[in-house]
Amino acid sequence: MPNILVFVEQLSGKPSRAALECIGAARACGGTVCAVVSGAGADAVAAELGRFGAAQAVVLTGGEASPDALAVDLAAIAKEQGAKAFLCAATGTGRDLAPRVAALLDSTLFSDCTALSAQGDTFTAVRPWLAGKALATLGSSGPVFCATTRPNVFATSEGSGKAEVVTRAASTGGKTKVTSIAAKPSGKLDVKEAPVVVSGGRGMKGPEHFGLIEELAAAFGNAATGSSRAVVDAGWRPHAEQVGQTGKTVAPQLYVAVGISGAIQHLAGMRTSKVIVAINKDPEAPIFKVADYGIVGDAFEILPALSKAVRELKAHK
Ligand SMILES: Cc1cc2nc3c(=O)[nH]c(=O)nc-3n(C[C@H](O)[C@H](O)[C@H](O)COP(=O)(O)OP(=O)(O)OC[C@H]3O[C@@H](n4cnc5c(N)ncnc54)[C@H](O)[C@@H]3O)c2cc1C
Repeated sequence: MPNILVFVEQLSGKPSRAALECIGAARACGGTVCAVVSGAGADAVAAELGRFGAAQAVVLTGGEASPDALAVDLAAIAKEQGAKAFLCAATGTGRDLAPRVAALLDSTLFSDCTALSAQGDTFTAVRPWLAGKALATLGSSGPVFCATTRPNVFATSEGSGKAEVVTRAASTGGKTKVTSIAAKPSGKLDVKEAPVVVSGGRGMKGPEHFGLIEELAAAFGNAATGSSRAVVDAGWRPHAEQVGQTGKTVAPQLYVAVGISGAIQHLAGMRTSKVIVAINKDPEAPIFKVADYGIVGDAFEILPALSKAVRELKAHK
């Protein structure tokens, strides 16, 4: 079984779901997983990782929240352990870290993968190309297969026991240092990780109407709000919410697009969602071509009715 190194992102002692999915992806490849955790609370995270399928967890102690110093440690551990693959989630942190690790291992990086498989020590990755219009299946001949996994695409795995936890002093002297991490307003889910995303576009007519989008997201209870670039450019919504080619790529269980036309650049960020619901008053809107369910009508009439229906359904569960 190939030995696969996985970097587990965490905050305040809680692993990110995307990182746990990454362990799931490694296990599905038949790998024995060595997870690496760093930062405050890493001990608590490491103690839990056996439940998610990690055989070993390396806790990096000390250090200085520097992606280049962390990359040095990850590459060193990969070499020492004879790892056949290195994986991390395609989050902001993962996108910063993974190319550095791949460069140190003299390997190619396969970013934002939506499927991974392995035959012995040979790995194959599937990743969307051309704004999601094509799926490329790629193989690597590098010494260590390096990839990032798209959040919400891979299933988490279950482990039977505890991971062996070892500690290791983290490297210092990185050139880049993370000086602070700002917490989101409480209760707000990240659009990249939320299982449900409700997004609004220019069809919402103005920022004052996004309360209707937030209301539907609140009715689901586990939803984040997203936006098209048009409304972000207009200053109606923050850039952190933008879904698409120049925004975030999301793959939730349910994506609800409201008053969004479905431009190719928007589709690039959400077409791998499991179920897509589109609400648009134009029956010819391109978003309907990728939607599993379409509602042709006025968002201002449909959204309150939909929020009410979701709330009632939840209340009866
Ligand atoms: C290089 C580049 C990168 C880009 N990156 C991104 C990106 O990352 N993300 C992104 O989203 N876009 C991106 N774009 C912009 C993209 O091309 C579109 O312009 C944008 O997605 C359109 O946003 P929209 O669907 O909200 O607006 P519109 O295209 O104006 O669509 C509004 C929709 O609302 C519907 N509507 C109007 N009123 C109602 C109503 N009352 N009820 C229901 N429906 C209604 C209309 O029928 C229409 O379909 C990019 C463009 C370029 C060139």
